[in-house]
Amino acid sequence: MESSHAELMAQVSQLQTLLNHVGAYVYAKDTQARYTYANQMVCELLGQPLQALLGATSAQFFDYAASDQIQTNDHRVLQQGQRVEMEETNVVASSGEARIYWSVKIPIFSAAGAIIGMCGVSTDITERRRLELQLQRQKQLLDTVLNSLDALVYMKDQQRRYLYANVHAASLFGQTQAGIVGKADAEMIAQKEADRFGIMDQQVLGQGQKSIGEETFVDAHGVNRHYWSVKVPIASASGIDAYVGMSTDITEVVQLKEKFRDLANTDALTGILSRRCLLERAETELKRARRHGTHLAIIAFDIDRFKQVNDGCGHAVGDQAIVAVVEACKQSLRETDLFGRIGGDEFVVVAVDTDLMGAVAVAERMREGVCGAEIRAGKGQLVPISSSFGLAMSDQEASLDDLLSRADGMLYEAKQCGRNQVRHPGLEDPEDLLQNY
Ligand code: GH3
Ligand code: MG
Repeated sequence: MESSHAELMAQVSQLQTLLNHVGAYVYAKDTQARYTYANQMVCELLGQPLQALLGATSAQFFDYAASDQIQTNDHRVLQQGQRVEMEETNVVASSGEARIYWSVKIPIFSAAGAIIGMCGVSTDITERRRLELQLQRQKQLLDTVLNSLDALVYMKDQQRRYLYANVHAASLFGQTQAGIVGKADAEMIAQKEADRFGIMDQQVLGQGQKSIGEETFVDAHGVNRHYWSVKVPIASASGIDAYVGMSTDITEVVQLKEKFRDLANTDALTGILSRRCLLERAETELKRARRHGTHLAIIAFDIDRFKQVNDGCGHAVGDQAIVAVVEACKQSLRETDLFGRIGGDEFVVVAVDTDLMGAVAVAERMREGVCGAEIRAGKGQLVPISSSFGLAMSDQEASLDDLLSRADGMLYEAKQCGRNQVRHPGLEDPEDLLQNY
């Protein structure tokens, strides 16, 4: 008997030690909600030795005016025999400090089944709640920012599956933010389109390097959209396992750029190359011809007595004549030839991979074409028109400027010799050559 009492006391002592170190507030109360037990943590919280707590109610230590949750919950357990598991906010009267607990309160029954008290375990979750709230606020802030941005923001894993997409990015693929998670591009758009995103994805995920560049994508409406993308790798202990991407829609900028480029490269009236573009491309062709040991011909031509057309028939008819001359000459040119308007009524053709005889033949055909162009004045009468042509052939030394001034010299000669003709330094009479061609 003695030894079993001692054993019991030892067990109680062990149990007390355990309860004092369990990291939660453990207590028991009688039916009047008076403490019958409180572990060390409860004593410390309330600043009372156990002896002072036993027989006292929690009303003496907690501010029920600020929160009466303890009272309400204890009542449910002690009066109604309910098991209560819920969050409680309690205010310690001595400090005025509000703490949040996760409390589990269980009724204690007598052998006869009557409620004789309750025991409870309350875990302080104030800090956890604070962190959760902080996290929630941060997430709200991030969501608001990310969804207000005009850019697509997304995160993909090593398998190129979405871990996150802001509203813009998700809706581009016809998805919700939750719906896109776990999906790969190819599951939502055509493989060909998905592969285009794959190029930069591969760079950032495969090589772990920040990747910046332009990406294109044909959207659901068939519009070719351009994006400026920045993709940043995210490293974990096991290496690069994800990346964050930001893509800004630059479609309008690209379209404008293309429009400006076209405007700068083409002549507004005729649609053929502008002077600047012709000279640029001619330079490239000249280099290519030198590399390949081939020849190209520069054919410069100018409408004869064009001032008379303008003066006699008006500027609009003059414009019409310029367009008609261009259309007539185009018929004689190959796809690969360059054709540009370099001045008011002056034009240059760069005939690639062409020898002297070929160039003369082209120029002659153009000359005839211009003569045959139908230009009508205000009252419908035909306006006769002709052009004079000067040729220069490339060699291994002459620069583009040299060739242009040689062709110009020949053109001047053609004008001097009566106009409506083709001149080349190697030719006495172009007609002879044409007959043999
Ligand atoms: P030439 O046979 O010596 O070439 O005589 P020309 O009268 O043609 O003389 P020139 O080539 O020097 O004159 C070109 C004229 O082309 C001058 C200008 O009034 C006219 N011109 C230049 N640009 C345009 C244009 O865009 N539209 C029209 N209608 N006329 C233009
Ligand atoms: Mg002229």
